[in-house]
Amino acid sequence: MEQYGLFIDGEYRDAKAGETIKSINPATEQPWAEVASAGEADVDDAVEAARKAHASGVWRNKSYEERADILAAVAEIINGQAEALAVVEAQDGGGTIRKASFADVPGAAGTFEYFAGLCRGYVDEEEFAETVPVASRNIVRREPIGVCAGIVPWNFPILMASWKIAPALAAGNTVIIKPASVTPVTALLLGQICKDAGVPDGVVNVVSGPGGVAGERLASHPDVGKVAFTGSTEVGRRIMQLASGTIKKVTLELGGKSPNIILDDADLDTAALGACYGTFFHQGQVCESGTRVLVSEKQHDELVDKMVSACDRIQVGDPMDMMSTMGPMVSSNQLDTVERYVGLGREAGAECVLGGDRPDMESGYYYNPTIFTGVDNGMRIAQEEIFGPVVSVIRYSDDEEAVRIANDSMYGLGGAVWSSDTERALSVARRLETGTVWINDYHMINVRFPFGGYKQSGVGRELGPWGMSAFQETKHIHVGEDTPDKIYFSALFN
Ligand code: NAP
Ligand code: MG
Repeated sequence: MEQYGLFIDGEYRDAKAGETIKSINPATEQPWAEVASAGEADVDDAVEAARKAHASGVWRNKSYEERADILAAVAEIINGQAEALAVVEAQDGGGTIRKASFADVPGAAGTFEYFAGLCRGYVDEEEFAETVPVASRNIVRREPIGVCAGIVPWNFPILMASWKIAPALAAGNTVIIKPASVTPVTALLLGQICKDAGVPDGVVNVVSGPGGVAGERLASHPDVGKVAFTGSTEVGRRIMQLASGTIKKVTLELGGKSPNIILDDADLDTAALGACYGTFFHQGQVCESGTRVLVSEKQHDELVDKMVSACDRIQVGDPMDMMSTMGPMVSSNQLDTVERYVGLGREAGAECVLGGDRPDMESGYYYNPTIFTGVDNGMRIAQEEIFGPVVSVIRYSDDEEAVRIANDSMYGLGGAVWSSDTERALSVARRLETGTVWINDYHMINVRFPFGGYKQSGVGRELGPWGMSAFQETKHIHVGEDTPDKIYFSALFN
């Protein structure tokens, strides 16, 4: 079995207590890697390494150009190891090799490239001359926060780790990443990749370990200035609580139950593909999945027929086979969750018109693409995040009702509108309470633009310059240019 250590202060090491986690390959149900499992003492070491590295100035005193060169080198090394990284990612999490090769690994490299580009020519100070309330020069500066923690989920392990590391480094911070326990390996590999690219020791640290131990310690450690978290809304609430102890900055990217609205002038062939792609990509284990398909009464039956036939083109199978387009669920837990929700859907009276069962395979946590019709938006399958290949089709009578149903959710992460009339689609998009809306597309997250949630889907935004500023403090320096007899001193002196 392959062995991996914690990456702390520029080197791999065992956990102090000698504990390990076995990572299961979800297709074989067998452990394939054993990684060190950090306890609180290991997390403290990682935080101390990051604190010292920050205090030394070894990273924050580098110019933005120097940081850009190193971030670009990280991207280059990821691209150079793309095939091997894709294989690890697929084995660790059960996502298809197709997804790992076309989305995860290039996406991770692209994230480092983008933030390298943002660093080039970056202006971290602006100056304003003012006469009100007194004559003054005003400098507004962007500075790093310090030690930042990134706690990441299992659905896009290398990509989510990159979404935390790249902007944190671009802004001049040091960082500690905690990967999910079911998919720890690629994040651990990123530690060495960063080092090979020229990131100084202690600037990037990676600690695999249980959320309840390593994650909680990171989210409450007094020397951590910011926590960037992606995962469930439930754990997001806990992170906010823990971070409140020392008023850490937090960004949270949480769950979703996103609406995928098919307007009645949409091209139904493309919309049906988009409705399936929006839900079944990566077995539905995607936070922004369009799990509520809203369709007008008059087009309902035709859309459902087209969705069912579109699923003929989905191949559930061995993630290592380039022809497989859906692999297994990440874990037996996640499979259980899906089976439980499909049961709840049936009990509530929704009609399962496709799937609702597992394919016949020798091993692996596989589940078939599943379509429910006759879903009322109040049902649990329409309100709660399932994180599996289960879509609810919901009927509406007019655009107004579609918007009302779309917004009737505690979540607000993603969503889409399909229409042949862009202005009409835009008018619907503007009324949706959600962080991202695609028109005639789905899952098109773009590193240049902000990503995050309304309502209980999160706090703050990642990606783009907005994502970089989430890793920065803002400082105002006032230079008094008033006459020596400061008029406002009269507030105190007679
Ligand atoms: P999760 O518990 O929210 O896990 C996300 C990350 O948080 C993992 O690294 C996890 O570590 C860590 N964590 C767990 N408990 C923690 C705590 N008390 N303090 C600090 N960190 C903690 O997600 P999950 O249990 O794997 O999945 C459950 C559900 O979350 C899914 O069914 C899905 O609905 C949602 N989810 C959403 C996203 C997303 O992209 N928004 C991603 C994954 C899951 P461990 O792995 O060691 O527990
Ligand atoms: Mg695994």
